[in-house]
Amino acid sequence: MSFLADRLSLIQPSPTVAVSTKAAELKAAGKDVIGLGAGEPDFDTPEHIKQAAFDAINAGKTKYAPPAGIPELRQAVCDKLQRDNNLSYTPDQIQVGCGGKQTIYNALMASVNPGDEVIIPAPYWVSYPDIAMLCEGKPVIVDCGQESGFKITADQLRAAITPKTKWLILNSPSNPTGAGYSHDDLRALADVLLEHDHVWVMTDDMYEFLVYDGFEFWTIAQVEPKLQPRVLTLNGLSKAYCMTGWRVGYAAGDKDLIKAMNKLQSQSTTSTSTISQWAGVGALNGDHSFIASNNEVFVQRRDLVVSMLNQADGIDCLTPQGAFYVYPSIAGLIGRKTPAGKVIETDEDFVTYLLEEEGVAAVHGAAFGLSPHFRISYATATDLLEEACSRIQRACAALN
Ligand code: GLU
Repeated sequence: MSFLADRLSLIQPSPTVAVSTKAAELKAAGKDVIGLGAGEPDFDTPEHIKQAAFDAINAGKTKYAPPAGIPELRQAVCDKLQRDNNLSYTPDQIQVGCGGKQTIYNALMASVNPGDEVIIPAPYWVSYPDIAMLCEGKPVIVDCGQESGFKITADQLRAAITPKTKWLILNSPSNPTGAGYSHDDLRALADVLLEHDHVWVMTDDMYEFLVYDGFEFWTIAQVEPKLQPRVLTLNGLSKAYCMTGWRVGYAAGDKDLIKAMNKLQSQSTTSTSTISQWAGVGALNGDHSFIASNNEVFVQRRDLVVSMLNQADGIDCLTPQGAFYVYPSIAGLIGRKTPAGKVIETDEDFVTYLLEEEGVAAVHGAAFGLSPHFRISYATATDLLEEACSRIQRACAALN
């Protein structure tokens, strides 16, 4: 009998974290590896945000914070939601956690009973189903392929809802596809949700500001205010503010749910770092112009990557509206043989081949629930991306 708890057998280590950790280890061991695994901006945290943290340290704001988060940051989150999303929340409806991931964990742990269903459109961010399973919930995966732009439709949602449905998880722009839900897409989903008032919605808006080509970001509570009481709006500072390591995410929603999440957090981390929270105040209340300049770079990188991948034999890549990922199909490569004579049977075989033969680290589609695809994060220096795409082209050409 294993010493370890049975519940751990329900989940896998996060594949995105695993790939980026492996790439970092290989690089540290002197291997020529280009890591396109982690969804992490290569840009440094802006100076004014760092300064807010230095100021907090110098002012001795280094003590415990309440589990919900420091009041100043919760107020800054309320102001942000009003300003950007036209959503009214009070600070007792906000929880700050150690990144978006912890607030998702808290929300599901605080609300899911054994057997409760959580509808998750696939491809999905790797952690949604595993967190749901850890909470003894049942992920209900809805396949949303490339032909439907990787988005769940109203009919698919209607068909997936049962009396046991507790949550629908939405993520726009999406990790791993970059697909964005338009106002009309969300309107159609909202109409279905209005027919089923037992279904709550967790909307992960982490990539809200990373949108391109004039794509207009909407979040579901803004599209249908009647849903707001049963929407948990999740967001964080990691991506748009280049603050991945600071660990600041937040959730906005029903007071009782937030209270339950705070109870849980008081028995785990207590809070994210107080210093990071002051940096978060500096981020949300400070200058945002760097986001537009970063986006100009992201869009150039996206266009470079999409174009180079579409030139690779056997790869088909859509142009996404947001985030910093592409999720190309490798259907054209399945069944081909590597120069060493190994048949590429799965997308995992393909990413293993890329890493071993060309030193390019990417994440296989199966990790995100939709194969045969792979995910590339283009939040990486442009010259490295270009080199990585050339290597991918070469790897594809070598398959027969
Ligand atoms: N969210 C990022 C990604 O998908 C960071 C790693 C993780 O937490 O999944 O790559």
